[in-house]
Amino acid sequence: MKPVIALVGRPNVGKSTLFNRLTGSRDAIVADYAGLTRDRHYGDGKVGRQEFIVIDTGGFEPESTAGIFKEMAKQTRQAVAEADAVIFVVDVRAGLSAQDHDIARYLRGANKRVLLAANKAEGMQESPLLAEFYELGIGDPHPISSAHGQGIRSLIEAALEDF
Ligand code: GDP
Ligand code: MG
Repeated sequence: MKPVIALVGRPNVGKSTLFNRLTGSRDAIVADYAGLTRDRHYGDGKVGRQEFIVIDTGGFEPESTAGIFKEMAKQTRQAVAEADAVIFVVDVRAGLSAQDHDIARYLRGANKRVLLAANKAEGMQESPLLAEFYELGIGDPHPISSAHGQGIRSLIEAALEDF
């Protein structure tokens, strides 16, 4: 059985871009508009020789603000339940938000291996902007750039260390 990695995080942090990077696909819809991906999305991931299943989340038809949050929470719970490891994606350029704190609180109680990926960190491997993410209580932020393919391999190796 291949290990399963779930990508979770608030809209627009780059989950689908990371999904596409991991699967080499253009399947997940990447958009400048939050929440365009239609449903949870499964793909075959490969980094080096390590093969895994990856789940993108955040797909829903935005009907109302309340509906968005409810659906997002549901998808996150389902994906986390199915996963061996969770990659919690945050946006270094946008910084921390209340939603990030809510997701972190949920993940801290989920009893899963959780890796914190600080995305959009191209050219910022040592940036002081990374420091605030320790506040989430998820451990060291792994700086990555999903768009430019930086930091991805060591993130996946850390996520799948036990597999
Ligand atoms: P999702 O809502 O979390 O799935 O986010 P998307 O993958 O749809 O990406 C949201 C926006 O962030 C898009 O405009 C992406 O091009 C952009 N983005 C994603 N990854 C990166 C990155 O590594 N660096 C930068 N600068 N932008 C990124
Ligand atoms: Mg998406």
